[in-house]
Amino acid sequence: MSNTYYLSQSNEVELFQAAASMNLPVLIKGPTGCGKTRFIESMGEKLDRKVYTVVCHDDLSAADLIGRHLINEHGTFWQDGPLTKAVREGGICYLDEIIEARKDTTVVLHSLADYRRVLPIDRTGELIEAHPDFMLVVSYNPGYQNVLKGMKPSTKQRFISLSFDYPKPEIEKEIIIKESGVNAEVAQKLVNIAGEIRQLTDSDIEEAVSTRLLVYSAKLIVNGFDPYQACMHSIVESLSDEDEVLEVLRKLIGLHF
Ligand code: ADP
Repeated sequence: MSNTYYLSQSNEVELFQAAASMNLPVLIKGPTGCGKTRFIESMGEKLDRKVYTVVCHDDLSAADLIGRHLINEHGTFWQDGPLTKAVREGGICYLDEIIEARKDTTVVLHSLADYRRVLPIDRTGELIEAHPDFMLVVSYNPGYQNVLKGMKPSTKQRFISLSFDYPKPEIEKEIIIKESGVNAEVAQKLVNIAGEIRQLTDSDIEEAVSTRLLVYSAKLIVNGFDPYQACMHSIVESLSDEDEVLEVLRKLIGLHF
C-alpha cells in the first residue's frame, strides 16, 4: 500500500519497477524540487522496501555510507552506515545529489552497481553480497555536471536512467492543489507564473522555479497570506539576489496577482 502522494509524469513507475525486478541500479536526472525524492519514497512503499536516503555533500566520507567503529562502555563495536544497512537487510539506498560527493567516496559504489552486487568493507574484512531487495538509486542535477563521466564503462552502462523535469502544466496544477489545498484558480495562476519564469533565459536566475516553491506559495496562500506576498517570499526571493532580476520577477507576479 502506498500512502505517499505521487502523481506520475510519464512511464517512470513502470521503469523503476522493471529496474527493481532486474536488480539494476537507477540514475535519476533532474532539476531540484521536481519530485525525485517524492518518487523514490513512493516507490519504496510500492515495492515494500525501506528507503535509506543520503543527501550527498563534499564532506561525505566513505565511512558515512559504509559505517564505522564506535566506542561505548563495553569497548568498540561496528555500526553499519545507511548503504551497508540497505545492502545487508535489503532496501533502496538513495544517494541524492551524488555529484556533490567526492570520487573517493563514491568509488565504493562500483562493485554494487555492476554485475557483482557486493560491498567490500575493508575495516572489518567483510565482503557482503547484496540482499536480493537491495537497490542503488542515485540522482543528480544535470545543470551542473555529468555524473557518469567519472564512472567506469562497466559500471555506468548498468544504470537504468530516468529523466525528470518540472511536471507538465496540468499535472503540476493537480500536484499544487493536492499538496496545499488551494483552489484551482489560484493553482492555475501559479502554474502560469512558473511557465513564464521558466521561459526567462536570464542567466541571473541560476535555476528556474521548482514545483516545491509553487507548493510553498500555495500553502502560504491557504494560510491566509496575500497571494502577491506569498509569491514574493517563496518564489521570487529564492530565485535571485540581483535587484534587476528581482524587479522583473516582481512585475511578472504583479501581472497575475
Ligand atoms: P527533488 O527531490 O526533485 O528535489 P522533491 O521530491 O522533494 O524534489 O519534490 C518537491 C515537492 O514537490 C514535494 O514535496 C511535493 O510537494 C512536490 N512534488 C513534485 N512532484 C510531485 C509529484 N509528481 N507528485 C507529488 N508531489 C510532487
